[in-house]
Amino acid sequence: MQTQVLYMEDRRGQEPDPCYLREFDANVLETGPDFVILDRTAFYAEGGGQPYDTGRLSWSGQEAKVLRVTKEKGVIRHHVDRLPAVGRVHGTIDWDRRYAHMRYHTSQHILSGLVWKIYGARTVGNQLYTDHARVDFQPANFTAEDLKRIEDECNRTAAAAHEVRIFQEDRVVVDSKIGDRSLLDLIPASIRRLRIIQVGSADYCPCGGTHLKNSSEIGRVHILEKRSKGKETDRVGYELLPA
Ligand SMILES: [Zn+2]
Repeated sequence: MQTQVLYMEDRRGQEPDPCYLREFDANVLETGPDFVILDRTAFYAEGGGQPYDTGRLSWSGQEAKVLRVTKEKGVIRHHVDRLPAVGRVHGTIDWDRRYAHMRYHTSQHILSGLVWKIYGARTVGNQLYTDHARVDFQPANFTAEDLKRIEDECNRTAAAAHEVRIFQEDRVVVDSKIGDRSLLDLIPASIRRLRIIQVGSADYCPCGGTHLKNSSEIGRVHILEKRSKGKETDRVGYELLPA
């Protein structure tokens, strides 16, 4: 029961860009008491700190709300308030919510990449929302000056309008480039090609999320707070402001 995930396609300048796909047509493969499994989808299922998409499925003048999207053991379920009566539906994503997640997600890549580069601290957790985000770094004990530097470096990268590249790369190459930066061990050994996200020289990282096309769409990073979570772990909270 494999669903083709439309935003996972490599970025090759196609229009619309896979991560900017707001609408799509799909066949219903299976329905449960309150969910639908489709043969293809542009909806993001919650995971990796990025919340699920909401939206709707429509068919012959009727529609169901998509309340939540989950992925368990590779199966993507669209949880709906009613089941479609037909085998073919049109999906529409709540774009404001998704685009906010893309801005936070892409900014988080830059933040994590720069903190790794400058301080050698690894990202050990993160959670994004539509209006703020938090990232946990380890080992870290940032001073106010550090936070200012991190904020400035992020904003310099965002303002430089870097293209955000998405492409496949051999696992061995990825491993040699990122070393301890990311927990590659958690990805099953059978997977030999990885989906890489690259933002200028700020970040290069395997990821399955949805990303902006250009870093300038982020706006400005404003760090709100830092809290120590013990075990040399710092939690950095931030919001995005217009450029
Ligand atoms: Zn990502």
